[in-house]
Amino acid sequence: MNILLVDDDVVDRATVKRSLNKGHSYYQITETDSAEEALHRLKCHYYDVVLLDYQLPQMNGVELVVKFKNESTKTNTAIVMISSSNSEELILECLNAGAQDFLLKEDISPGQLSRTLIQAQRRFELESKLYESYRQVKEMAELDTLTGLANRYRFDESLRSAIRSNQRENGYVTLFIFDLDHFKNINDSFGHDIGDKLLQSVAERVSTIVRDSEVFARLGGDEFALIFTNFGHINQIMQISQRILDSFKRPFNVGGQEIHCNCSIGIALHPLNGQDAEELKKFADIAMYRAKNSGRNTAYLFEDNMQVEFYRKYQIEVELRKAIENQDFCLYFQPIVDIEEHQVVGFESLIRWPCAVTCQRPDEFISVAEDSRLIFPLGQWIIDNAIKGFVDIRQKFPKIRYITINISAYQLKSADLVEQIAVACKKYEVAPSDLVVEVTETALLSNDEDTKNVLNMLDMLGCSIALDDFGTGYSSISHLLNYPIHTVKLDKSLIDGCEKFQKHRAIISGLCAMLKSIDIKVVAEGIETQAQLDICMNSDVDFVQGYYFAKPEPLEFL
Ligand code: C2E
Ligand code: CA
Ligand code: CA
Repeated sequence: MNILLVDDDVVDRATVKRSLNKGHSYYQITETDSAEEALHRLKCHYYDVVLLDYQLPQMNGVELVVKFKNESTKTNTAIVMISSSNSEELILECLNAGAQDFLLKEDISPGQLSRTLIQAQRRFELESKLYESYRQVKEMAELDTLTGLANRYRFDESLRSAIRSNQRENGYVTLFIFDLDHFKNINDSFGHDIGDKLLQSVAERVSTIVRDSEVFARLGGDEFALIFTNFGHINQIMQISQRILDSFKRPFNVGGQEIHCNCSIGIALHPLNGQDAEELKKFADIAMYRAKNSGRNTAYLFEDNMQVEFYRKYQIEVELRKAIENQDFCLYFQPIVDIEEHQVVGFESLIRWPCAVTCQRPDEFISVAEDSRLIFPLGQWIIDNAIKGFVDIRQKFPKIRYITINISAYQLKSADLVEQIAVACKKYEVAPSDLVVEVTETALLSNDEDTKNVLNMLDMLGCSIALDDFGTGYSSISHLLNYPIHTVKLDKSLIDGCEKFQKHRAIISGLCAMLKSIDIKVVAEGIETQAQLDICMNSDVDFVQGYYFAKPEPLEFL
């Protein structure tokens, strides 16, 4: 056993050496009387155990231990302190500093010394093992098991520490938060296994282009985060976000499947946007939310007005939640007139929220309901009340043929919709053929099987399907051919321009001729003047709707 004996007292050293030599084991002993030399030797040579006197001239033994541990991280040397004082405080101080054992000078005997040396070595080994497993557990606890990226805990720590040390004049701590667009659909259609593998592939692919990031973490689900501390200019930030977006252009090959997926990125900067980690995360989230709302597959830097917009939406959402519970809504009905018969043949049901504080405009709060998924309970309420309302309207106007209900794209993805309509029809004894479901073209854009199935099921149930707001978006002929569409509603914007512009008139009559030829009925929306009505008549429009006839009204005013 290789031993370094550190003591400034020659007599004491001699006593220790004598005891060692009388023992059964062989010891290779090196002596020194100074802390300085001891440190130097420890750096250059290997010793199994250091026998270290507490009382040394330049520094005491504890200081030496601390210095030694700080300077050399990888060491296999056990330390035994020796002292002539047996104060408990002193013993604890030595052990806390990292010594493995403590020996009183007066107790030193050959047997005691050799036992202490063996115990100290053994204790050192155990402590090292404990430390190593602690280190492994810590590492595991800070890594995301699925992707091997940092987890939320490590991310939070790193963000805080990056912000703390961001003192540079023109430097930013840049936080990117991104998540995959429509990941839920991928999970639903391919299964969670493939979903998990996709997350792994995304982590791998993005890792290769963000090598200079401080941390790349998976925060949970399909949400990832990146922290950069080396950007001084916004251009660099936009370049890296573009690189990330571009990396999603190539499909991911996952378990033999080619999966196309994009991501939406939100970016916030310290100190420009937020002062602390919490603020920065919130603002990057808001920016990501904005990226999603503006069509996804894009990146947004946080701007102050986003917060205003975000809070408005948030307030609407909070109010909506309560309103759904309290059923604070009512339906208004607007007549749809047969242009030839001059007769009201149906009513469109339109939601109203009279006591809303933040926003009463249906298109705005419906879009918040869609984003927050509150559209499902709200949509159910609308269906139930529209069908119930139809029974009352028909008592007043026996010639009424149908009621129309606006249905959101989200509702169209689930067969629950068909069930809800069938149940409500039964409950109020209304034939499904008395219902027209109004859907917008954007609902058909994703071209997914679920929507197609739901529309076909509604068709089979006997409901008619009307394509709303035609002429504003894509106005795609393929939608008319691929889905069971019975009616098209020409958007108010086409009607608005028709008095002034020949082009608008030409489009209206052209569309009517085309739609007629494939057996689709045409409703013109937003008729406000006699002149607009005349144009519709000349264009072969079948039905008209608008303030010219009546504004939407509650049941009791019809
Ligand atoms: P939309 O389905 O295109 O409804 C027609 C909108 O035009 C209604 O606005 C109606 O009040 C308005 N309008 C009708 N005739 C005229 C007119 O001559 N001049 C003018 N200026 N406007 C006219 P509203 O009720 O504010 O609804 C706006 C949008 O909100 C609706 O557009 C629809 O997308 C959505 N929405 C309303 N109710 C519901 C609902 O129950 N469910 C769903 N999912 N969406 C709804
Ligand atoms: Ca409508
Ligand atoms: Ca419309």
